[in-house]
Amino acid sequence: MQTAVLFSNVSRHYGEVRAVDGVDLEVGEGEFFAMLGPSGSGKTTSLRLIAGFEQPTSGHIEIFGETAEGVPPYRRNVNTVFQDYALFPHMSVRDNVAYGLMIKGMGKAERHRAAEEALELVRLPGYGDRPPSALSGGQRQRVALARAIVNKPKVLLLDEPLGALDLKLREQMQDELKSLQQTLGITFIFVTHDQGEALSMADRIAVFNHGRIQQIGAPEEIYQRPQSRFVADFVGSSNILEPAVAERLTGQKGWASLRPEAIRIGETAGKPATVVSHSYTGAMNRVVLDVEGTRLTAIVPAQVSVPAAGASTTAAWNPDAPHFMEGEG
Ligand code: ADP
Ligand code: MG
Repeated sequence: MQTAVLFSNVSRHYGEVRAVDGVDLEVGEGEFFAMLGPSGSGKTTSLRLIAGFEQPTSGHIEIFGETAEGVPPYRRNVNTVFQDYALFPHMSVRDNVAYGLMIKGMGKAERHRAAEEALELVRLPGYGDRPPSALSGGQRQRVALARAIVNKPKVLLLDEPLGALDLKLREQMQDELKSLQQTLGITFIFVTHDQGEALSMADRIAVFNHGRIQQIGAPEEIYQRPQSRFVADFVGSSNILEPAVAERLTGQKGWASLRPEAIRIGETAGKPATVVSHSYTGAMNRVVLDVEGTRLTAIVPAQVSVPAAGASTTAAWNPDAPHFMEGEG
């Protein structure tokens, strides 16, 4: 696999603020790569470094094997879809989409054809004449997408593109973005603070915190084998066991993560537990247990009957369910 984007020890500091701090990463051509992390962790800055809107304070960036430093944004073969869409309100949808091609000097008929093709790809055929104000939020998001892909970039950068959409639309767009990426066969680098979004779409995820990458891996790897407490806690919810508690509950000492869905309740062989509280979340019940003085959250299918708060039950998990993290966690 060819390397699309390479960071070697890249930092971007603003005075005392280390927005990006010694990042190494390699994104393969055709990969759907997610940058996941809390607000302020350096995701947008990393994207802007790839796009060329920012220069590294130190370190080195390559795009398709070529040094990026000194190459202006419009010569990078990279396009960005911004969170706020940034459509021109006074232009039609068609002219918005064709804008980049017009700047490049493409003739009107040709660029209108290209714009219509891009609008078809985002499932907005025939919307060219409308002003952006006549579209819903989800449709505006698609226009922003069409405006980026019409330039046929080799890398598409997406900065929290679904952040402004409601849940149902967001889930639908996740599926569509994934299939659009497969249709186009180009590299997507997708920034989000939403772990569900990253897990459902990405081939690989880089988890950011404080300008650094905590872990890079496939979604299953990040979820099943988090290397640190931060990753275990940020990607999905987890019961984080400190070393003494882990030793008491599992027989092994060290920082451990025990996923709520790995805990079963009510089995005869389980550890004695007390139900602290439970809540119904549709398909699942979320049960807070007290197990030998430790609070553990379990997520059990709704058909499993849960005793009332205060009642006794048991908690059990497979021996390999607790995942032990390295060092200090
Ligand atoms: P994210 O996209 O993960 O929310 P950002 O990359 O936008 O994070 O920001 C990372 C950190 O860098 C934040 O603390 C932010 O305030 C700071 N930062 C970003 N851009 C600038 C700037 N132009 N000047 C000063 N600080 C900045
Ligand atoms: Mg951001």
